[in-house]
Amino acid sequence: MVEMDGDEMTRVVWKMVKDKLLLPYLDTNVEYYDLHIRNRDNTNDQVTVDAANATMKYGVGVKCATITPNADRVKEYNLKEMWKSPNATIRSMLDGTVFRKPILVKNIRPFVSTWKKPIIIGRHAYGDVYSNTEMSIPGPGKAEIVFTPSDGSGPSQKTIQEFTGSGIIQGIHNTDESIQSFARACFTYAFDEKIDLWFSTKDTISKTYDARFRDIFEDEYKENWIAKFQDVGIEYFFTLIDDAVARIIRSEGGMLWALKNYDGDVMSDMIAAANGSLAMMTSVLVSPHGYFEYEAAHGTVQKHYYKHLNKEETSTNSMALIFAWAGCLRKRGELDGTENLVDFANKLEEAAIETVESGIMTGDLLLVAQKSPNNKRVNTQEFIDAIGERLHRKLWR
Ligand code: NAP
Ligand code: MG
Repeated sequence: MVEMDGDEMTRVVWKMVKDKLLLPYLDTNVEYYDLHIRNRDNTNDQVTVDAANATMKYGVGVKCATITPNADRVKEYNLKEMWKSPNATIRSMLDGTVFRKPILVKNIRPFVSTWKKPIIIGRHAYGDVYSNTEMSIPGPGKAEIVFTPSDGSGPSQKTIQEFTGSGIIQGIHNTDESIQSFARACFTYAFDEKIDLWFSTKDTISKTYDARFRDIFEDEYKENWIAKFQDVGIEYFFTLIDDAVARIIRSEGGMLWALKNYDGDVMSDMIAAANGSLAMMTSVLVSPHGYFEYEAAHGTVQKHYYKHLNKEETSTNSMALIFAWAGCLRKRGELDGTENLVDFANKLEEAAIETVESGIMTGDLLLVAQKSPNNKRVNTQEFIDAIGERLHRKLWR
């Protein structure tokens, strides 16, 4: 399997997780790629491309959170360039859909009191604003969108705006092929899990772009899924995104909510926060070609990292990173038929959940957990140690 190391606090936690929870028990070939911002800069971001290629070669990968450079980061790390988001690079190479599922524990109730079951987000991981072309418009002039066919026939063009002053424009795209595989991945996931599938876009405003997503999903449903969905008693439901947001809040949960790339990015953060913490969300990229990439849904936890550098105590939650490793190991085991590895991955997740349910938790969870005399706030290392003790007991029972 492929391991992609990352940045800041998650890099610190990544090492603790490996040292305490993985290396003592595993004898697995892991190909290591260091996506630290400095290494990406030194290799002109080639390391990200290499890691994505390796993930396609081996079929499974696990990735730590990484810095997506912005102007501040370019200054902070003295970067040659404002490199693209590694996630965007990897996703556009692997294609596919990101499924984000909250990690539920008994002693943390979602903020939305009607939610009884997890709401899983299926985020299209290709195109739209993540691989856009943007331009600043300095002053008056005409902005156009042009398509030039490869067959030599004449171009088609439309006016975006006749600018009378300065402004901005943006070009985005998607492909029918990618939307089709997004649809297929979502129907497959919903069917496997026996849960309803919801899909929503802004098709009333975006009558060509978003409407295409709606139509492709509808065709996929009619062609391949109507009978199967009826058999297991689940539904496919399309609605305008505004309506979907309102319904989700009042729902019981328990559905897969398919969303376009940007909608899925934002909504998964909302769902994660409503379930207690950004660190209580797992994320897996499922590619139509059969590749799987596991990661945490949160970022590099920059604020905690600066504390860590200052030798202040941190209480960073490692749940999502642990679940990323567990997901990757389980998939490797399933693909190879190595039961021991699957069993190890399951026990690792159980140990992590039981630790939180026993009251031992990081600061982010203590704020939202049900009050109990057993609750104890622990620091980053102590949390991983507590999970490690439980895991050890489970493995040698
Ligand atoms: P973030 O790392 O997700 O953290 C935002 C805040 O959420 C933290 O300050 C912390 O709140 C809380 N938090 C997130 N994860 C936590 C955890 N494991 N345990 C405890 N608290 C947690 O987002 P950010 O600080 O906005 O972004 C930092 C960097 O991450 C950026 O450079 C961004 O580009 C990158 N990023 C990477 C990915 C990825 O690689 N998948 C995704 C998103 C962002 P408190 O400070 O209140 O404790
Ligand atoms: Mg996000």
